[in-house]
Amino acid sequence: MQNIISSNVGYPRIGEQREWKRALESYWKKEITEKELLERTDEIRLDNIKKQKEKGIDLIPVGDFSLYDHVLDTSAMFGVIPERFGYEGGKVDIDTYFAVARGTQQAVASEMTKWFNTNYHYIVPELQSVQPELTENRPLTYYKEAKEKLGVDGKPVIVGPITYLQLAKGYDEADFSSLLDKFLPLYVQILKELEDAGATWVQIDEPIFGTELSEKVLDQAKQVYETFQQAAPELKIILQTYFEHIVNYKEVTSFPVEAIGMDFIQGDSLALLKEFGFPKDKVLACGVINGRNVWKANVEEKLNLLNEIQHHIGESPIIVQPSTSLLHVPVTVKLEAQLDSGVKAGLAFADEKLEETVILTKGLLQGKDSIQKELEKNQAELNHFNKETDRKNERVRQALKEIEASGASAVERGLPFKDRIKEQQKARHLPILPTTTIGSLPQTFEERRTRTKWRKGDITNEQYDAFIKGKIEKWINIQEELGLDVLVHGEFERTDMVEYFGEKLNGFGVTKFGWVQSYGSRCVKPPLIFGDVSFDQPMTVKETVYAQSLTDRPVKGMLTGPVTILNWSFVNEDVPRDTTQNQIALALREEVEALEQEGIHIIQVDEPALREGLPLDKKKWKAYLDAAVYAFRLTTSSVEDRTQIHTHMCYSEFHHIYETIDGLDADVISIETSRSHGDIISTFEENTYDKEIGLGVYDIHSPRIPDKEEMKQNIHRALQVISPKQFWINPDCGLKTRNETETVGALREMVKAAEDVRQEV
Ligand code: GLN
Ligand code: ZN
Repeated sequence: MQNIISSNVGYPRIGEQREWKRALESYWKKEITEKELLERTDEIRLDNIKKQKEKGIDLIPVGDFSLYDHVLDTSAMFGVIPERFGYEGGKVDIDTYFAVARGTQQAVASEMTKWFNTNYHYIVPELQSVQPELTENRPLTYYKEAKEKLGVDGKPVIVGPITYLQLAKGYDEADFSSLLDKFLPLYVQILKELEDAGATWVQIDEPIFGTELSEKVLDQAKQVYETFQQAAPELKIILQTYFEHIVNYKEVTSFPVEAIGMDFIQGDSLALLKEFGFPKDKVLACGVINGRNVWKANVEEKLNLLNEIQHHIGESPIIVQPSTSLLHVPVTVKLEAQLDSGVKAGLAFADEKLEETVILTKGLLQGKDSIQKELEKNQAELNHFNKETDRKNERVRQALKEIEASGASAVERGLPFKDRIKEQQKARHLPILPTTTIGSLPQTFEERRTRTKWRKGDITNEQYDAFIKGKIEKWINIQEELGLDVLVHGEFERTDMVEYFGEKLNGFGVTKFGWVQSYGSRCVKPPLIFGDVSFDQPMTVKETVYAQSLTDRPVKGMLTGPVTILNWSFVNEDVPRDTTQNQIALALREEVEALEQEGIHIIQVDEPALREGLPLDKKKWKAYLDAAVYAFRLTTSSVEDRTQIHTHMCYSEFHHIYETIDGLDADVISIETSRSHGDIISTFEENTYDKEIGLGVYDIHSPRIPDKEEMKQNIHRALQVISPKQFWINPDCGLKTRNETETVGALREMVKAAEDVRQEV
């Protein structure tokens, strides 16, 4: 190989304008046939490859495209399909594939959880009693496709066996090695066939090496890669890690692979190189362009970084690439015509990051002078970004400093929970096992169309407000009729729980097409935090107060918390993350106080992203969690004792953050549980949680309407470990993506289930 080449780790699937999403959803609605779906998605996939070729990327990933999720693709490739979907081996047809992801009326979907510390969700493989087989050589299919149709000698991407099995469930740790033995021959076959087909490179993704692994697993991993090397000696394997430095660096870099891919953005890869060097016989794939954020790279600084890396690794060849798959950033800045030009000058999405990668590669190969023009342009754009936008706010910086200086007391509630709960009970009389929902209610085409019209100026502010009010009224009536105890206004004014706040807070910008995939066809548009954050105007008061005016039952105010806003935004890199997080908290605290002043005494501050933000390296957890707790309390602690603070989180695996949950000091927490099939309940078995808690009693990610008996079972199971005095009954998560029939149907069953169980306790 040439000593220095460029590469990409993965490319967004969704298309410049989310064409992918539309194709999938049309198919699910049976508006298009399977053939049409495949035609449309083939086109997107090939366009993506073409684009990367035109940009001048040397190693273009293939097989990273997916119709839902790459972990699910891996499962389908190995025939890892749970029995309940009626699968009988062989190639997995498309409807079975989607059924595993989305569930059917007969079968509950597989669990979905976050991909490491990102907001991307993968479908958790279920390994109980499966006999893996190679149902199709997927990487080979896409390798051949790119070669035949586009003349591209692509780099197939595969989820590595260690990561795949570590993320799977349904087996005991003790069986890890026997399972690995079952999958190993399948991986070997894939690699051999790729080698036979003439593939030069293959990228095996093992982000799990960013976490700490036992010696045993590391030994087995080494054997796996030895087997790969023996089986396909001509194939050049890039062992790709990301989201963190390699925690067991010495072990992993000793594996017999051609190249190691390392993330030089998240984690301390450079420090590892300094301390331990890098094996002379390997290629270093340097992830120096940030695959997780949207800011333009300072090309000169990146070139210096690469020079420094080179200095530490000596003669080893280098691959220049983004730090992670570009799945986590939007496709192109090109379409953002309405953005402030100063902000736009500071942005680089996937396509622009590939351009940066190519420029850097050239600079490293031919010297800095060879990219003089590009460097000047880059500097000019960064200057524009720094100058034109309002990026600093001294008032906020000062206010935060003062609060931080006054210590823990600045973020404490008046009375401790056991005393203030009495005030809260006095303030309102809720039945035992109160019912509520998580906040959002169905949003249909109508909401989206009306919002678009309003944004375009086709309807007036008054018309839009009246429309939202109409929705609130309709759903307050429905909730009353259903007999729910604590109502919500429904979040109809929000496209997204983070973007909405981003549009209203100072220091934020919002893009038009800056979408990234979150789960399945669902995409989110993270706002940009380009400067210091501060409160500008009330954000939720109008809608909440209106909803409350329509009913005697309590309406719960609804905000997104500081940790989640931070984790789901593209964050300014000029100040420490914790500082930005606290700035957001301070702004939200003003909102909480405004709601309280207007008579809203139940306020939910959602933190669904708290857990996902955990760094891969456990050594960093405490600092992250302490900061999260501080910011949450900064947001919520100034309210009266009788005001009840709720919070909501998604997803299981709460064992290791139990103390944090307690530390938030929220009066009520609701947690998603049904997709974790009970795992979460054991957390509460082992601990004595004294505050109130709602464990989701049905899964909202699936269109299936569960009946009351099924929900009662879930409630009963929870009540074995949690006192009915503490327990709330609610769905798993927000209902925005469900339709009215599904929502009303399921909530009716939920209220009935609550009534039945109340009779028993
Ligand atoms: N309140 C939000 C909603 O109901 C919470 C969403 C979430 O947890 N992701 O949509
Ligand atoms: Zn949720």
